[in-house]
Parts: sequence; C-alpha cells; structure tokens
Amino acid sequence: MPGINMKKEDYYNILGVNRNASQDDIKRSYRKMALKYHPDKNPGDKKAEEMFKAAAEAYEVLSDPEKRRRYDQFGHEGLRGVETRGFGSFDDIFEAFGDIFGGGSIFEDFFGGRTQTRSARRGASLRCDIVLDFKEVATGIEKTIEITKRDICEECRGSGARKGTSPVSCPYCKGKGEVHQRQGFFTLRTTCPKCYGKGKIIETPCHRCSGNGLYPKRTKIKVQVPAGIEDGTRLRVAGQGESGENGAPPGDLYCDINIKPHPIFKREGYDIICEFPVTFTQAALGCVIEVPTIMGKLKKVRIPGGIQSGDVLSVKGEGFPHVRGYGRGNLLVHIIVETPTKLTRRQEELLREFAESEHKNVTPKRKKFFSKGKETFLTSLEDICRYV
Ligand SMILES: [Zn+2]
Ligand SMILES: [Zn+2]
Repeated sequence: MPGINMKKEDYYNILGVNRNASQDDIKRSYRKMALKYHPDKNPGDKKAEEMFKAAAEAYEVLSDPEKRRRYDQFGHEGLRGVETRGFGSFDDIFEAFGDIFGGGSIFEDFFGGRTQTRSARRGASLRCDIVLDFKEVATGIEKTIEITKRDICEECRGSGARKGTSPVSCPYCKGKGEVHQRQGFFTLRTTCPKCYGKGKIIETPCHRCSGNGLYPKRTKIKVQVPAGIEDGTRLRVAGQGESGENGAPPGDLYCDINIKPHPIFKREGYDIICEFPVTFTQAALGCVIEVPTIMGKLKKVRIPGGIQSGDVLSVKGEGFPHVRGYGRGNLLVHIIVETPTKLTRRQEELLREFAESEHKNVTPKRKKFFSKGKETFLTSLEDICRYV
C-alpha cells in the first residue's frame, strides 16, 4: 500500500555516528542523546519522546554485534525475524539500558533513580516547612515534625499479601522475573510481563494496602537544625521520605527553613542588628546602656560622649553562631538619638542658656508668641505654661 511504506530512518543517522563507529562511540553518542531527550527533561514534548525511543531502538541494534552485522548487510530488512524489544514505555527503556553507563549511575544522578526497575522503585522524597524563631536559630534545635507518608504496611509487613497468605512464585516466569523467547537462533530475555520482574505474584492482596505493601501513616520525625542556619535553607534528612516498594531504599525528607521576624532584632549574615534609642543628653555626655541580647539577657554597653545618631557599636560574639566551623557574629547596636518632644519650664530654661553659650540662633520663647492672643483665648499665665 502506498503511503504507509514510510522509509525508516537510518540507525547510524539517528545516533549521529558513522558506519565504522566503535562500540564506545555508539555508547557515548547514545548516552548523550538519552540525556538530551530524556522525558524528565522534556515533559510533554512528543518530539523529544520520539527521539528518545528512536535512539533506544537504534542503540539496541548497533550495540549488539550480531544485530549490527545483519543491519549493515541488509538494512532494516535484515532485522526482520530478529526480535527487537520494541520499547512500549520509558520504563522498558530504563530497564533495558539504565545500566549501560556503569551501574546506571548517570541516569540516577541526573534523574533521581529512574533506572530502577518496577520491582525496586525507591520511595518518594517529601518536603516540609520548619518555622524557627531567632533564639532557636541562635542555639540550634531538635524539631519534631509530623507528616503523613507511605510506610511499610503493618498488616502484611510490606509483602502486599493478605494476612495468613504470602506472595507465591510467579507461574509465568517460574519465579525468575524474566522470560526467554527463542527466535530462530536467538534467545531473548525480557522482563516477565505478569510479575514485572518481581518473580512473585500476590494471589490475595492485603485488604489494607491493596497489595502494594505501603500504607499512609502519620509519622513523627526528629530533625536536627544546626545553630546559625539561614532563612530559606533546605535541609536534607536522608532516608526519611516514603518507604520504597519491595525493600527498595526510602526517599529523603527535605525541610525548608523559615525564620520568623523578630520585633526588635534584624539579621544580617551572622550579625544581629538592634536599633537603640538614647536621649540627646545621653548621647552628648555619654552613658552606660543595657542592650537586650538574642538569648534574652541584658548586656551593658558603654556609650561614649558625643555619639551621633546612626553610629554603630559592636558587641562581640553576641550574634549568631556560624553554621559551619567556629565563631559567632556580633550584635550591632545602631544608635538613634531622640530629640525630646516635651520640656518642662526648667528644662527649657537650661537649654536656652545652653543655646546662648553656643551663640546659636534658636526660636524665641513660644510664650511670647502666645501672649498676643492671651486676651482672646487664654485666661491665665498658668494656662499658657500648660499649653506651651
Ligand atoms: Zn498490606
Ligand atoms: Zn513472572
């Protein structure tokens, strides 16, 4: 029939290697393509999916000396009757070639363990939030968090089989987990389609977990938060994610650190900043103030006479501890000089005297200004004093 007799793309072209490429070249090229068109990197991209499958198909043939010889000699026709896998799903591809890069480490590193077969899938990783206050950050703390995660089913102890029964050897593959198919001179091994490579099947599934061996469970987990940790840090707690199926390793738990703002302190790196108001006489003459620290104590700090608003005094070692290594940040006291808003008569007199000694121009007494209106709205001198 015309139209459906589409010409199949050349396997060497697909992998971008020439016809006398070595096995190493072919492997290297396939690895590059597999990473480029990997479904996890190209979610929902049909074209990438096709390329990924085509590369796997090409690699299957060209990495097998006998299949490659037939292909070289007769092209796609030469493979007729030679069973190729015909990858139906990504899992098939991962099962077939996940380990070509030396223990599957490259796939695993890039894509988080997709190479594992269905019989040994790693547990899912989980995420949670941990909220800390400044004091907890300063000391470091062990936090207990509570999450719901899929854990080994207690009813069947993870076997998936109903209580009193146990999984039985798969009759299809006789417990081997793979099946052998003879095709002419060749024997082909494939994962058993009935037990998905587990070698065992469950005849009567556990009623609690429906046979998958895992069941959601409320779990308390202790998380060690190191002192000095910064806002937005993600802590990894290895092995505290969900349990894996069939004894596969569990996932990890990731904790995102959120630090609550403090009413009087601000953080800057490992230093703590505290704005401290002093009166203008304290600033001019000098004094000793008591500054609160993150640990809730008061620390005496000497303020030298003549300090300016905006000057910073450093209290050594009263900041956050460094999260790695030794030492602590400092408490930085930002001085704010406050101008008095209410003066008694005596205070005003003294200040005016002071201003005279400085030969500074200051506004005249407000009393004089108001005395003009005395007849109209103020009745006595006392009233005026009170008002001013
Ligand atoms: Zn169960
Ligand atoms: Zn089987």
